[in-house]
Amino acid sequence: MFEALGNRLQGVFDRLRGRGALSESDVSDALREVRVALLEADVALPVVRDIIAKVRERAVGQEVIRSIQPGQQVVKIVHDALVEALGGGDEGARGLDLNAPSPIPILMVGLQGSGKTTTSGKIALRLKGRERKKVLLASLDVHRPAAQLQLAQLAERAEVVSLPIVAGQSPLQIAERAMDLGRRELYDVVILDTAGRLAIDDALMDEVAAVKAAVKPHETLLVVDAMTGQDSVNTARAFNERVGITGIVMTRVDGDARGGAALSMRAVTGAPIKLLGAGEKLDALEEFHPDRIANRILGMGDIVSLVERAAETIDQAEAEKLAARMQKGQFSLEDYASQLKQIGKMGSLSGIMGMLPGAQKIKQQLGDANLDQSILKRQAAIIGSMTIGERRKPEIIKASRKKRIASGSGSSVQEVNKLLKQFEDMRDMMKRMNKMGQKGLMRGGLA
Ligand code: GDP
Repeated sequence: MFEALGNRLQGVFDRLRGRGALSESDVSDALREVRVALLEADVALPVVRDIIAKVRERAVGQEVIRSIQPGQQVVKIVHDALVEALGGGDEGARGLDLNAPSPIPILMVGLQGSGKTTTSGKIALRLKGRERKKVLLASLDVHRPAAQLQLAQLAERAEVVSLPIVAGQSPLQIAERAMDLGRRELYDVVILDTAGRLAIDDALMDEVAAVKAAVKPHETLLVVDAMTGQDSVNTARAFNERVGITGIVMTRVDGDARGGAALSMRAVTGAPIKLLGAGEKLDALEEFHPDRIANRILGMGDIVSLVERAAETIDQAEAEKLAARMQKGQFSLEDYASQLKQIGKMGSLSGIMGMLPGAQKIKQQLGDANLDQSILKRQAAIIGSMTIGERRKPEIIKASRKKRIASGSGSSVQEVNKLLKQFEDMRDMMKRMNKMGQKGLMRGGLA
């Protein structure tokens, strides 16, 4: 998400930064481009107007134009305006509100296909894992016969309990049964996944509103698909008016949505975006931090999220073992393969790159194809086709072995060569770093 917008804005700001002094008309020109970029990213018109007005007011002030780095100042002002549009600074990173007596009911609402059921499973997994909560999942969808089964399967994958299915019950009856079980068996959280429809209709709204009135959920989360752009903002407005929501989960931000909807949500509905769905897997759920998103849009990177993700996914013990082996100069292709696996677990490579400052440019140069996750898999497959001896002593891999490895892994001798060369370079680099003294460079970097 936000890639196109980010590229456009960064282009505008690169030109501004290059200037020593800015005139009012420089700022106006830049703002005109920012306005077009926001509109093209599908940000709602009133929101665009508001952002531009705020930036103009703050940027044409004398202090900015006379400051030492006026371009930098303007970027900062745009950054702050984006953070405001996205729902605020630190208090924006609210996540779910679990400040209520157990069992806490969370009601999931949204259109069919928005990712509501998947998100219910993701939230269950997160609450169970990070917050150590006892979570019960229940599907109130009596319209699609498969829906209740789908949720039960997700619950199984997340290793949480789902409410036993009883045929013939109404959504209200199911909700009450779920809350009953939640009270009796001391659950912390009960997630109620309501039925979706393809489009907003009165029957859907009435059903959701009735469940909401009966259960009085602590959170009513609307799930919207980021790929639907402005439509998702209209959906949010309708749900908020008819049912009332406490927060928004935006899914499919891993796709190439233009991102403008995220910037419009707060202004249009008043409800904050609380979480982002960034993939089909159950752990692909991110907290929404307006300041970090603004950084990403402006190409300033998002190191905090990157480090957090690394800390979550990378196996600490494994990393330490690897660091020790590197320091002793024992880094082998087996270690390389295990590193590839760890990187793969962190999510899509282009997603990771997007969190590095200035990485958008590198990405453009490389082309997205070169950042494809499949590179990791191919390299892992090549190493997988080697014998243990070859992995530990790659020097022995000569022409005939290369041919065998290439055909065993469905790749070419060229690719095998490329991998061996990369590995050699890495090993050289490590040796050089070790020679630089035992300053613990690698250990510091990995631990
Ligand atoms: P529901 O009808 O709203 O309950 O939607 P589902 O949860 O069944 O999701 C519909 C489809 O979207 C499924 O194939 C999910 O795997 C997929 N999906 C859900 N969330 C995401 C996401 O954040 N990213 C991507 N790429 N796919 C998602």
